[in-house]
Amino acid sequence: MSTASREIHLTARPSGMPSPQDFAIVDVEVPDPGPGEVVVRNDWMSVDPSMRGRMRDVPSYLPPFALGAPMEGATIGTVTASRADSIAVGATVWHHLGWRDHTLVKAEDVHPIDSGGLSGSEFLGTLGMPGLTAYLALTKIAPVRPGDVVFISAAAGGVGLVAARVARHLGASTVVGSAGGPDKARRLVDELGYDHAIDYTAGPIGAQLSAEVPDGIDVYLDNVGGDHLQAAIDSLHPHGLVAVCGSVSQANAEEPVPGPSNLALVTRKRLTLRGFIVLDHLDLWDEWIALARGWLDDGTFTSTTTVVDGLQNAVDALIGLLGGVNVGKMLVCLHPDAP
Ligand code: NDP
Repeated sequence: MSTASREIHLTARPSGMPSPQDFAIVDVEVPDPGPGEVVVRNDWMSVDPSMRGRMRDVPSYLPPFALGAPMEGATIGTVTASRADSIAVGATVWHHLGWRDHTLVKAEDVHPIDSGGLSGSEFLGTLGMPGLTAYLALTKIAPVRPGDVVFISAAAGGVGLVAARVARHLGASTVVGSAGGPDKARRLVDELGYDHAIDYTAGPIGAQLSAEVPDGIDVYLDNVGGDHLQAAIDSLHPHGLVAVCGSVSQANAEEPVPGPSNLALVTRKRLTLRGFIVLDHLDLWDEWIALARGWLDDGTFTSTTTVVDGLQNAVDALIGLLGGVNVGKMLVCLHPDAP
């Protein structure tokens, strides 16, 4: 007996900010599993800036979304039917074929999760790719040393909030964040663990960064690119480090965006700018989960999320993410009883 489901399809490649007209919700029947397959009821879906990149028909580290086909994304769900010895009905699993209510998936593409009393949503946020990205960035790509001054852009987002906690763990003396809008900037300092905050909508970033940390910074986690990167290069001490994580300020750009005009300082100050993709470093995941679970269990870190309910609202969640409506990890909850 098949399972009634819905899928979100990309129907047109957006120009600039995506609009709801670029997507469709399609009713489908998910077949029963064949040998080695399972059916998963998707409970939580991750909403990621990288999804905007996959809407372009250009080569990247993940293939573009096909038009007229379901989109994909990281998902936590519950196995409802299984013909795989390794995966029991009722298991909580992580897989990458979200943006639909139910998924038929090969058992080898499904990763059982030991949620240990935590919400499955933690495995898309703090314990998932955003958290691992923050940990990787500040331990391996641009390692923070005790006493460092660390600057984080998209500071109130999924990666940014975990990165602030990781920087503290590594002994940073000062953590500065930038976010869009006065309310987010205030929350960074009042609630979310930052020492100083910049509202990048309020004026030039470089001047604000100099005002907050006049003696400069040691490490920059770049989630944004553009004028944030330029300001950080100006502010970095000699031998400073940059983890080039993403360039969300350019996510909707239709033309090539000019680079920072101060790259000569990279040479003069002997800076290191290093890009990375978290998927190349999954060997670090168990180490990260063990550390972060400890913080969640002992209450020294509480995950912050923005949750949108229902598959029918997932496209709005993605558009909202690109516009900055989220504080913490942006998630879609697909099932009212999602563990
Ligand atoms: P976030 O939760 O940080 O959401 C995206 C945020 O981007 C929004 O909340 C918004 O915050 C900010 N933003 C949007 N437009 C602009 C703009 N023009 N200028 C500055 N900020 C903007 O997403 P994630 O935590 O998932 O991702 C953060 C970054 O990390 C992204 O660049 C992403 O691509 C990257 N990433 C990279 C990975 C890797 O392997 N290299 C893995 C995972 C993520 P605000 O309101 O403050 O503007």
